[in-house]
Amino acid sequence: MAGDSFQQRTLQRTASIDGVGLHSGQPVTLRLIPAPIDHGLVFVRTDLPDKPVIPVRSEYVVDTSLATTLGIGSARVATVEHLLAALSGLGIDNLRIEIDGPEVPIVDGSAEPFARLIAETGIRTQDEFKQFIVIKRSVTVIDGDKHATFSPARRFRIDCTIDFKHPLISDQQFTLEFSGHSFVREVARARTFGFLRDVDRLRQMGLARGGSLENAVVVDDFSILNPEGLRFPDEFVRHKLLDALGDVSLLGRPVIGAMTAYKTGHALNQRLVAKVLSDPANYEVVRARGRDLSNARLEVTDLAGVLAPHAA
Ligand SMILES: [Zn+2]
Repeated sequence: MAGDSFQQRTLQRTASIDGVGLHSGQPVTLRLIPAPIDHGLVFVRTDLPDKPVIPVRSEYVVDTSLATTLGIGSARVATVEHLLAALSGLGIDNLRIEIDGPEVPIVDGSAEPFARLIAETGIRTQDEFKQFIVIKRSVTVIDGDKHATFSPARRFRIDCTIDFKHPLISDQQFTLEFSGHSFVREVARARTFGFLRDVDRLRQMGLARGGSLENAVVVDDFSILNPEGLRFPDEFVRHKLLDALGDVSLLGRPVIGAMTAYKTGHALNQRLVAKVLSDPANYEVVRARGRDLSNARLEVTDLAGVLAPHAA
């Protein structure tokens, strides 16, 4: 196995994407700017005085109620999870993410527009190996009938289960092993979903202002309201897995371990990340060099060939 997939990655050049925030409805421009070795991922609020920098790490999570929000002082960047899932799924380590508003654009409700932007811009392999977080012992968090666990494993894997009291969704289970083109092919295109009754309630609260059938799957009691239908028969659980991927990237480094997510949301995902990091005996940070981490991360070779068009 070539060492390429263990080396740090950034973009070939600056890329940008426009859109509106799901909850704020506010137009924003996101710019992804290449960054040097060991820089990590940071958000920069370019519209605020002194342009505050918010590192993409769990200690900067300030809210997990509807989406995952990062913050420092009074500066916020909300709904980071789909962008972070794309960056994690494509193995991007170093980037300065400039944003001129309080919320990442929702675009089509999935991670695909971000994955496509990254693939079209081009990934630059950098002259240093990645640092991984290797899970050393099992860590579990529980909230009623919901639970999440990270366990030691040779590769990064997420096993996700949902169980909604709804005839169209009910119980779905999906496992993703992060190797090959699996992220782009299996998960990146799965969209946010919501229930019509919740959309009405959120609107009354001044939320979901940017939400529409263009960027979310919406279901009422019996049917899917989107005329185009679903992108996958089990698109709901695939999206929950996408959210979990974005959320656990707040470990701050790519992870080698198996996550089990049972009916979790952003709050429980973040509790798991915080609990892993709370005790150094739970994990070890290793540089890829000299370790057998073959296939641990996605090989990016021919992304253009696996990024499917938007049609279902
Ligand atoms: Zn989501």
